[in-house]
Amino acid sequence: MRLYDSLTQNKREFIPRDGDHVTMYFCGPTVYNYVHLGNARPYVLSLVAKRYFESLGWSVTLVENITDIDDRIIAKAQAEGRTAKEVAEEFAAAYIEDTNQLGLGRPDMEPYATDHIAEIIDLVQRLIENGHAYVAVNGDVYYKVASFDTYGKLSKQRIEEMRHGARIDPGEDKADPLDFVLWKAAKPGEPAWESPWGLGRPGWHIECSAMGLKYLGEGFDIHGGGRDLIFPHHENEIAQSEGALGTDFVRFWVHNGMLNTKDEKMSKSVGNIFLLREALREYRPEVLVCFFVSSHYRSPIEFSKESLAKAGRQIERLRNVFRALADYTGSTADEVAPRAPQAMVDAPAGSASGDEALAEAVEAARRGFEQAMAEDLNTGGALGEVFMLAREVNSALGRRDVSVAAMASARDALTDMVFVLGLDAVARVGEEVPEEVLQLAADRRRAREERNFAEADRLRDAIAARGFEVRDVPGGFKVVPRQV
Ligand code: AMP
Ligand code: ZN
Repeated sequence: MRLYDSLTQNKREFIPRDGDHVTMYFCGPTVYNYVHLGNARPYVLSLVAKRYFESLGWSVTLVENITDIDDRIIAKAQAEGRTAKEVAEEFAAAYIEDTNQLGLGRPDMEPYATDHIAEIIDLVQRLIENGHAYVAVNGDVYYKVASFDTYGKLSKQRIEEMRHGARIDPGEDKADPLDFVLWKAAKPGEPAWESPWGLGRPGWHIECSAMGLKYLGEGFDIHGGGRDLIFPHHENEIAQSEGALGTDFVRFWVHNGMLNTKDEKMSKSVGNIFLLREALREYRPEVLVCFFVSSHYRSPIEFSKESLAKAGRQIERLRNVFRALADYTGSTADEVAPRAPQAMVDAPAGSASGDEALAEAVEAARRGFEQAMAEDLNTGGALGEVFMLAREVNSALGRRDVSVAAMASARDALTDMVFVLGLDAVARVGEEVPEEVLQLAADRRRAREERNFAEADRLRDAIAARGFEVRDVPGGFKVVPRQV
């Protein structure tokens, strides 16, 4: 596959460093508030990329950090008379709860900055020793930007230009306005850890260098996050890591575009946020995932209720296709536990030409899907292939000229594809009707066949009492949630 690298600004063939094992690090949230829908974008990207790589037969280690020490966490804690740890724990738990609901699984590791103080101190120490960092009189430790020749290579800025208008803020004790803090000396009342430079706490950028290197090693495959992190965060991560190692920090820099409202980044400081938990109250999780994967990950997305409504309609279309497929084939592709049929319809015979045409459509969709994903994770194009196959399936369902086996292979292809895109919830149509209700429906069919209409009516009422309705369809029946 080819992947775009923001550092070289081109797409290159992506071959994992360790054979068939992919190493990825994504910058996670700073936990001082609930995450918003924009924060969900890199989360969705990282887990969809993981699913895609796994579909290629690679294994993946995805690390996504949680920043649990930061000025904003401390400020919030002080304003509310709580400790920074309490604030961070509350919002880290909320972040995990909210993102869990997206149904994409979790990253393999979610390390916290404050659990890595020793690694951070080691890295800062190394930078001081090799001349990339210095200790200020007040106990802060700064990175000496002028010591790193290629500073600015990621954000495409020149040091001389950055120096224009740069100044040293009150309270900072640095030699050059461009220098950035690695370790902050403790102020009274702030959380602090022992270090060779006195009590203090890590700056923001250093945690990602320390944890990325610890868990994934030198020159790992993919470092990701939102575009807004290119400068200064990722530029500084490069300076820190490469300054300490003398070798390349990562192989591909992957940045998602912003989720904007009226062309402005969704962010707490702008005040235009839609919290992920609020969004999850209004929309099904797969609708939010569909909203993201419909666009290319690098494009900016304009937030609007209309786009979410459109994603909702797309999801409904897919769900309907899977429902119809379950009715036709008498099963879903649920690998965990094959469910009892939600509907019982006499198997259509199919025809050789119908089967062949559908098999060709399945083949073309699988190929198109693979090609789209292999071209810089073009999830929008891949989703287009899903819809194309869904259309073919719908017309074949109408014609009833396809065998159950051929239809089941179309269903399996669609199931595989929606899984990679993180939309597998649409395929789980079987879970909607409990086993017991299906049994009642099957009994009712038998009663009708035996012309025992009193028993059939009794069973219909029993099904209704459980919130379902049996509909007779040509050649069989269908169980659907009761419309009240
Ligand atoms: P933060 O807590 O602000 O560091 O953000 C956590 C992650 O969300 C980072 O990868 C950010 O780049 C990303 N992010 C923040 N705001 C947005 C947005 N409006 N759209 C897309 N990604 C965002
Ligand atoms: Zn980071």
